[in-house]
Amino acid sequence: MPVLVMKFGGTSVANPDRIRRAAKRVGVEVAKGYDVIVIVSAMSGKTNELVGWVNETSPLYDAREYDAVVSSGENVTAGLMALTLQEMDIPARSWQGWQVPVKTTSAHASARIEDIPPANIEAKFAEGMRVAVVAGFQGISPEGRITTLGRGGSDTTAVAFAAAFKAERCDIYTDVDGVYTTDPRISSKARKLDKIAFEEMLELASLGAKVLQTRSVELAMRYKVKLRVLSSFEEQSDDAGTLVCDEEEVMENRPVSGIAYSRDEAKMTLLSVADRPGIAAAIFGPLSEAGINVDMIIQNIAEDGRTDMTFSCPVDQVKRAEKAMENAKESGEINYHNLVADTDVAKVSAVGIGMRSQSGVAATMFKTLSDEGINIKVIATSEIKISVLIDRKYMELAVQALHDAFELEKQA
Ligand code: ASP
Ligand code: MG
Repeated sequence: MPVLVMKFGGTSVANPDRIRRAAKRVGVEVAKGYDVIVIVSAMSGKTNELVGWVNETSPLYDAREYDAVVSSGENVTAGLMALTLQEMDIPARSWQGWQVPVKTTSAHASARIEDIPPANIEAKFAEGMRVAVVAGFQGISPEGRITTLGRGGSDTTAVAFAAAFKAERCDIYTDVDGVYTTDPRISSKARKLDKIAFEEMLELASLGAKVLQTRSVELAMRYKVKLRVLSSFEEQSDDAGTLVCDEEEVMENRPVSGIAYSRDEAKMTLLSVADRPGIAAAIFGPLSEAGINVDMIIQNIAEDGRTDMTFSCPVDQVKRAEKAMENAKESGEINYHNLVADTDVAKVSAVGIGMRSQSGVAATMFKTLSDEGINIKVIATSEIKISVLIDRKYMELAVQALHDAFELEKQA
């Protein structure tokens, strides 16, 4: 029988009543003849609560125990979902990650899935089980310890199962009815997209759109998993939501498809570093070892053999970045005059595969921001995106103005 993967996010399984609604959706697909793999998140708010308890108990926690604790929310919803389906006379059982097994790396709290042998679940389908309910977000390391995949990781569990079981589709049920041109809470003109290309979704996710974990989009792109984002709160037709697919399937033809933002950025500048071969490596090596997610980088023109180096990173990593730079200075690897952190910045990005062939996007973006009196602090571009760092207080304004400028409220 064809396999379908259905993933339910935290708000869709927030209480027994919501779980019943989600289970009804599963029942509809089972009735169509699918064997269904249901991936569940923890009840909304649960993972945050568990993380809080870990931090309260042990500020310098053992990451293996962190994973043991924070993975537990999904165990509860997996069991409840299986019970609910059984109540509906649908043969179902729950699986924790290690039981499948979902084999991952040992990078606790940000493990990667390496393999999902389908044999155990397939054997149960062969015996007449119709739904395998799997706890998302978790797996088992080569050492036999429980791992988690990073926040939002059950999206990645879902896509990985869809790839491993060659599922017809992977449906991600969430609290929004699809992927929007921007966050509807910021621009009332935001429009739901029927389709979006993998590459665009990948950029939007990594630039701050929170609908899908970035890694899940990477996997879907690599294994050509048909991925759909839709709401679990509405009656759904077969073409509801947003399909994330190959760019050939996307009909819209416009330079920009969406505006993403990330509120919590910081801009750090090393003043007066020696301009010599190897200096960038000497700076960004230690930052990478310290686990800093450096995003944008600019190196200024040198004067008298000294230059300024600016980079951006998430605001909660500033302290660690400062420490890494101080250590590198003390050990003589680098030499700089001063390290200045600007923690009141946000990143706003325009994304679209149409940028590859249509020019003038950057010009429109900069003109729009300048018309609003917004100063650009750092610019970074790729083939299909342009990102700027601006003062955080102008973030909403920038998103709205860019959404208007690129006329994203209109279907192209
Ligand atoms: N429950 C986990 C989290 O909140 C994983 C997920 O829901 O995707 O990050
Ligand atoms: Mg999520």
